[in-house]
Amino acid sequence: MSIAGNLAAIQTRIQRACADSGRAPSSVRLVAVSKLHPAALVAEAAATGQTIFGENYVQELVDKAAQLTCPVAWHMIGHLQSNKVKYLPGIVSMIHTVDRLSLAQEIDRQWRDKLSAVCDILVQVNVSGEVTKSGTTRAEALDLVRAIAPLPNVRIRGLMTMPPFFDDPELARPYFRELRQLADQISNEQIPGIEMTELSMGMSGDFEVAIEEGATLVRVGTAIFGER
Ligand SMILES: *Cc1c(COP(=O)(O)O)cnc(C)c1O
Repeated sequence: MSIAGNLAAIQTRIQRACADSGRAPSSVRLVAVSKLHPAALVAEAAATGQTIFGENYVQELVDKAAQLTCPVAWHMIGHLQSNKVKYLPGIVSMIHTVDRLSLAQEIDRQWRDKLSAVCDILVQVNVSGEVTKSGTTRAEALDLVRAIAPLPNVRIRGLMTMPPFFDDPELARPYFRELRQLADQISNEQIPGIEMTELSMGMSGDFEVAIEEGATLVRVGTAIFGER
């Protein structure tokens, strides 16, 4: 199928999952994950009205952004090294993968020095505890949020997670639910300047389950652009 056809099919499935769980369709935004696909495919998707694109690798993101002539919003969704943050101000509008204070401090510094602006970020939580996954632990998430909160040039908008891969998306449900519960707990702490309005969770194989559990940003790659 075409990218336009894939996008339309995904939007229909998002709307159905929202309807099934009593949520407004406007409460879920699609992040089209374009990693390892050329800028021409991003342009093709953008031409159909898709606005948010997710990338994992800084160099690839910077190159692709330079090639695009239409306005899109880039979200950084991959593991991020502090020494690469300096390439991102002015390019990305959200960073989903903040899992340590030192990284938040570097984002704060770069957004202050280069833009005098505030960067929207999500705190990545490793809810499954798999050693191969990035993310702060469930136990440390609240302390990390508290530590980041005073930084003036970053704004925490919510949480992000990546559960283990399962063939059956139902098996991912407990991890999505746990992220939602953690966001509710952090929200109840009423930390000044902290919003827990965004939950970035769900990919090609499990985004409907994620929506049922409260996802506001679903990160879908393969189902839009095909295999990488
Ligand atoms: C690649 C990637 C996705 C998209 O995965 P698909 O299974 O291709 O939809 C989503 N989130 C992250 C963090 C990724 O690295």
